[in-house]
Amino acid sequence: MSQTKDDCLFCKIAAGEIPSAKVYEDEDVYAFLDISQVTKGHTLVIPKTHAKNIYETPDDVAEKLFKQVPKLAQAIKDTYQPEGLNILNNNEEPAGQSVFHLHLHLIPRYGKGDGFGAVWKTHEDKYNQDDLQTIATEINQQIK
Ligand code: 5GP
Ligand code: ZN
Repeated sequence: MSQTKDDCLFCKIAAGEIPSAKVYEDEDVYAFLDISQVTKGHTLVIPKTHAKNIYETPDDVAEKLFKQVPKLAQAIKDTYQPEGLNILNNNEEPAGQSVFHLHLHLIPRYGKGDGFGAVWKTHEDKYNQDDLQTIATEINQQIK
């Protein structure tokens, strides 16, 4: 499923056309509770400007969006005293994106079995320092 700007759930939420549990709003950013509440306080932070995902996000939109994240994270921490907090952003369907308007998930963590988990396999044994440098250089050469 994909949404265009004119038929975008999160654009409508940011505009107040669809109800949401608002946590914070300013000129550029809107934060509200994720309806799924993976853990208590699970919050989505979105730019008011439509961007499908990170690949279509202009620098100034990213800057304004992330600028608000530390204080929102701190407010969640001060409210519910989680043991930790994950910040997650899914881009494209294979990575778990289901709403195609850029959003950051702020997921407070309350310990094992709290509802959130990510498989995080490590492969240090498969890459030596030369391999890592090759990969880093390949990516670096694509930075525009
Ligand atoms: P994604 O899977 O794209 O990273 O995250 C989309 C999130 O939007 C999901 O966690 C889902 O629960 C949340 N979501 C989907 N529809 C609504 C809605 O109508 N209201 C709210 N508050 N959250 C929604
Ligand atoms: Zn949108």
